[in-house]
Amino acid sequence: MPAAGPSPRSFASLILAAVLLPAAPGPASAQTLEPISYTVRFPAPATHYAEIVAEVPADGRTHVELMMATWTPGSYLIREYARHVEAVRAVTPAGEPLAVAKSSKNRWRIETGGADRVTVAYRVYCREMSVRTNWIEADFAMLNGAPTFLTPVGPAPRPHDVRIELPPEWSESVTALPPAPGGRPHSYRAADFDTLVDAPILAGNPTTYPFTVEGTPHALVNIGEGGVWDGPTSAADVERIVREQRRTWGFFPYERYLFLNMLVEAGGGLEHRDSTLLMTSRWTTRDRRRYLRWLGTVSHELFHAWNVKRLRPAALGPFDYEREAFTPSLWMVEGLTSYYGPLAVHRAGISTREELLEALSGQIEALQTTPGRLVQPVAEASYDAWIKYYRRNENSPNTTISYYTKGAVIGFLLEATGGRRSLDDVLKAAYGRYSGERGFRPGEFEAVASVVAGIDLGGWFDRAIRSTDELDYEPALAWYGLEFAPDARADDDAPAPAWLGLDTRTDRGRLLVAGVRRGTPGYEAGFNVGDEILAIGDYRVGPEAWRQRLGLYRAGDTVTVLVARRERLVRLDARFGEAPPEGWRLRPVESPSAAQTRRLDAWLDPGSTP
Ligand SMILES: [Zn+2]
Repeated sequence: MPAAGPSPRSFASLILAAVLLPAAPGPASAQTLEPISYTVRFPAPATHYAEIVAEVPADGRTHVELMMATWTPGSYLIREYARHVEAVRAVTPAGEPLAVAKSSKNRWRIETGGADRVTVAYRVYCREMSVRTNWIEADFAMLNGAPTFLTPVGPAPRPHDVRIELPPEWSESVTALPPAPGGRPHSYRAADFDTLVDAPILAGNPTTYPFTVEGTPHALVNIGEGGVWDGPTSAADVERIVREQRRTWGFFPYERYLFLNMLVEAGGGLEHRDSTLLMTSRWTTRDRRRYLRWLGTVSHELFHAWNVKRLRPAALGPFDYEREAFTPSLWMVEGLTSYYGPLAVHRAGISTREELLEALSGQIEALQTTPGRLVQPVAEASYDAWIKYYRRNENSPNTTISYYTKGAVIGFLLEATGGRRSLDDVLKAAYGRYSGERGFRPGEFEAVASVVAGIDLGGWFDRAIRSTDELDYEPALAWYGLEFAPDARADDDAPAPAWLGLDTRTDRGRLLVAGVRRGTPGYEAGFNVGDEILAIGDYRVGPEAWRQRLGLYRAGDTVTVLVARRERLVRLDARFGEAPPEGWRLRPVESPSAAQTRRLDAWLDPGSTP
């Protein structure tokens, strides 16, 4: 049973706790430049617009050039946020209009006319419900830094101050940014643009559940509970995950942390240094599986506070917000984090051992049933995230592999490869060495793993990371006393049912091919994504009868399937095959050795192992 959670109360006490903490000193150069300050207003939030006024120091120059970021760190796709910006205007402090001209797709050049500062006003359309973009409606606003704030071009860091003017119906603004000097309400100071981008801002009427772990303040901040979401239980479970990750790492890398949770019937999570932005359905706490998945995302994003926000590949920061940041190491920062997501939920005492093994089995099955694993090494999947992972099409399963999925499975196998040392030990050693300004370069994390394990893992990493060889599960299974349960269908004496290997979907009563995986009978027969399946042999088949009809054929039968392809009727000759075995469900072996039991316990429940 989950412990009772704290009752919601004002966020002011948490803010107070934050201001009482000593401020972290910023880079020396940040102190020398005057801040740029923004005022954000929502005069008609139902129209999805933010109106922004920026006071921009001219620094004695004849012109200033401002840019809008093209992407959000953590989400590796050029998204062209400038397309939502409109009506950029500039005036002198005396109100004289200044010339504004576009100088590239995402830049504006403003003549200063000798003024020491310019006032720039613009509007941003905010209606994209994702954790990296913006959304404004009558009840609330969710703002991310990258798609919201124009900033001076150039590397010189300067403070960015933000003041939010709330509509009268809204009570609060919430962000991980510290308060700006001066103590005005809803006013925040980011030490530099990176910090601003790394701290999303929510405004509206949130419900906040503060809690403290080892003296460090945290809060779960929910927007949209709507009388449906179970706030106290979710806050108590989030706190247990925080305690578990504190136990794993031995310290918190931040001074306070916010879980900004949007209950908006969308999904996702994005990591930041001192907060995370999450999205789910308001009904999630009422469904065990969905709830565990959400807690897994909470756990994943929190783990990123260590792994990627501080222990990071050198390519991932400082960022060029106008260009891609390529790295082969996302299998580590995303994949190992995906391994720890559900693991920490289990170690926190929330999910059962069966539920944890089911989550891990799902990751293994997703990897082993994706043909692209034999085409794309996971290091390359990471490098090509910008053009492949975030730009999927119907052929993606055949040609790519997810660095989340394969990276998580590699985490499990690596865990069992280190002998007496755990993956926790490897990560802590890597954190100690590479969490500073420099970051780690390709190969350096692997070298730490070898040192900690006391064996040369170079060849192991070459195969797992840089080749398309199948992963070898046997050593890990033997180490923990696990096995893959045999396919339940194997006990069945009935002949194998027919299988084409097509993914299908229904659209307005039509049965459509949604995916054709390489190596399946459907691929060999020449099915195309988008084909409408009309008949098998001379007999019509609709969406409701498709599965049942396939069950009436047997592997080895040959048939003609009639499809409509862009309205033209096409006959495809197909030979049914046999579905590959569903053999990726992990379970403990019947009679494990004492050593296997000890290792399994130490892995899954380290907090209770002496
Ligand atoms: Zn992640």
